[in-house]
Amino acid sequence: QREEWAKLKDEPTITKDGAQVELAANIGTPDDVAGALHNGAEGVGLYRTEFLYMGKSELPSEEEQFEAYKSVLEQMGDKPVVVRTLDIGGDKELDYMDLPKELNPFLGFRAIRFCLENEDVFRPQLRALLRASAFGNLKIMFPMIATLEEFRRAKGILLDEKENLAAEGIKVAENIEVGIMVEIPSTAVTAAQFAKEVDFFSIGTNDLIQYTMAADRMNEQVSYLYQPYHPAILNLVNNVIEAAHKEGKWAGMCGEMAGDPIAIPILLGLGLDEFSMSATSILPARTQLSKLSKEQIASHKEELLAMSTTDEVVEFIDQLVNKA
Ligand code: PEP
Ligand code: MG
Repeated sequence: QREEWAKLKDEPTITKDGAQVELAANIGTPDDVAGALHNGAEGVGLYRTEFLYMGKSELPSEEEQFEAYKSVLEQMGDKPVVVRTLDIGGDKELDYMDLPKELNPFLGFRAIRFCLENEDVFRPQLRALLRASAFGNLKIMFPMIATLEEFRRAKGILLDEKENLAAEGIKVAENIEVGIMVEIPSTAVTAAQFAKEVDFFSIGTNDLIQYTMAADRMNEQVSYLYQPYHPAILNLVNNVIEAAHKEGKWAGMCGEMAGDPIAIPILLGLGLDEFSMSATSILPARTQLSKLSKEQIASHKEELLAMSTTDEVVEFIDQLVNKA
């Protein structure tokens, strides 16, 4: 099996019927890039920047961030690198920020909500990213976007810093794609409106599932409700992909679901363009995809989306891809 995987390491990801998708890696530090490339990543689909901020006594400087982003971009060469801006709060705390305790941290002051209110934290990160953009193929992504106004404000600040850098004579890449994570049901439902303004979507199913099912992703007692293949999730995912394609944009996924062998055929059939996962899942996923027919699964899309329960979905997809 490992030999079968190894053969596909430097190959594009092509399905049995000739459709192409991108398999990217989720990373947390510049040190993860070597492993991603070794496992055949075609890009970085999610660079979680929280590690730069966590486990220390103060905010990372713009310079420190610039070095980290530049390192990732240089190591990846021409390959795309999607960097997510700071997603703090929820399960990820920063001791030195002294944020108020909240009753519901996952529904609280986190990620883009925090950044928009703390520009002294947000702007240095954006400047570091823009400066690093000259060294590779950077795409910038905002986390936990719930409304279009949030996206517009965040992008406005980004463009403002871009102008500042231009005035300082610092080189910044042209045409950096700016996209959002789709982790909140409001955004998944109104994806058509977002698609007119964002350059891409990356579906964050880890959070999207918990918010859609109202089941804390860390709470064992309600884990039975945490159902990635539930028709509610599949319909939201489908809505996002269709909205993106209608506007000529791409849709990826960077939650755990993207590397899940049961979900992969479903996501392929729904038309997902980019699958971002832990590095070690990439070659198994590429092998699996090489044996799937996108058209065959897509021809059953309406049926799939009309299913009533998770069990029905799982049984249906098993019949379709394994027993056909
Ligand atoms: C997600 O929510 O799916 C995601 C990728 O972000 P995180 O797991 O960092 O919340
Ligand atoms: Mg998330």
